[in-house]
Amino acid sequence: MSKGLVIVISAPSGGGKGTILKKLFESDDNLTLSVSATTRAPRPGEENGVQYYFVTKEEFSEMLEKGEILEHAEFCDNYYGTPKAPVVELTEKGKDVVLEIEVKGGAQIKKLIPDCVSIFITPVSLEVLEKRLRNRGTETEDAILKRLATAKVELKEAHNYDYIVVNDKLEDAVEDVKSILRAEKLRYIRNKENLDSSLGI
Ligand code: ADP
Ligand code: 5GP
Repeated sequence: MSKGLVIVISAPSGGGKGTILKKLFESDDNLTLSVSATTRAPRPGEENGVQYYFVTKEEFSEMLEKGEILEHAEFCDNYYGTPKAPVVELTEKGKDVVLEIEVKGGAQIKKLIPDCVSIFITPVSLEVLEKRLRNRGTETEDAILKRLATAKVELKEAHNYDYIVVNDKLEDAVEDVKSILRAEKLRYIRNKENLDSSLGI
C-alpha cells in the first residue's frame, strides 16, 4: 500500500482555506485533517479536539519539549503547532493528511518532508481579502488589522509553494485543488513500488 500524501495548505487569514477544505472533505473519504494545537482562545462554536486542541502556553511548551510537535510558529501573538504522531500514523495507513498551516510552518514541513504537496491559496486582491475577513465576523477590529498586516507578509512567501490556487469563484478553487491532488497521486515516484510488485516494471 502506498503511503498517504502530506498536503500543506496555506493562505492569508480569510483567504478561504477552511471553506475550500470543507468542500474537499465532503468529497474525499481518504482525506484527513491534522488537528493542530493552539494557544489562541476558541471562537464561538469551536470545540476542543475538533478545530484545534486548545492549550495553555505552558502546555504548548511542554509538548514542544517532549518532541511531540512536528512544526510550530507564532502567529498574531499565539502559538500554533502540528502534533507529530497522528501525521505519521495516518500517512503510514495510506491516508492523505492536510496540514492547514501558516507560511513559517509550511517552510518547516517542506524541509522535513520534501515530497509533501504544498498549495498556497490567494485572494484576487487585498480588498477582497479584507471584505471576506470582515464579513466572516469572527475577529475583533484589532485582530483584523493584525491579520491583514500579516497577510501582506505571507503573500510574499507564495513562491515557496508547489502550487498557487486563486480563490475567486469557490467551485473553481475547489476543482483546482482536487486536480492538483489527483495529478500528484499519479506521479511515477508515488507509484513505483506498486508497478514493481504488480507488473515487474
Ligand atoms: P481562512 O480559513 O483561510 O481563514 P475562510 O475559509 O474562513 O478563510 O474564508 C473567509 C471568509 O470568506 C468566510 O466567511 C468564507 O465564507 C468566505 N469565502 C471563502 N471563499 C470564498 C469565495 N470564493 N467567494 C466568496 N466568499 C468566500
Ligand atoms: P486561525 O487563528 O485563523 O485559526 O489560524 C491562524 C493561522 O494559523 C492560519 O494561517 C492557520 O493556517 C495557521 N495555523 C493553524 N494551525 C497551525 C499549525 O499547526 N502550525 C502553523 N504553523 N500554523 C497553523
